[in-house]
Amino acid sequence: MAGIPDSFKLDVTCPGCGKKSKQALARLHRDKKFRCPGCGATVPVGGDGLKKMDAAIKKLTRDLTKTINVKIKF
Ligand SMILES: [Zn+2]
Repeated sequence: MAGIPDSFKLDVTCPGCGKKSKQALARLHRDKKFRCPGCGATVPVGGDGLKKMDAAIKKLTRDLTKTINVKIKF
């Protein structure tokens, strides 16, 4: 996987307490889990969540390339 900038964040909702938080996409993809800042639970990301994450990463890296191409104008 080409590097995912740390600035890419994903909105996640804790299934335990319902707290929404932003997690770094790169870390989420690597660890396959996140820690809820609300209740402190470690929430695993699997199945459908992983598929959605892969799709999001593909879209982001594609958009990133597009953006870079557009930005190389002086
Ligand atoms: Zn929670």
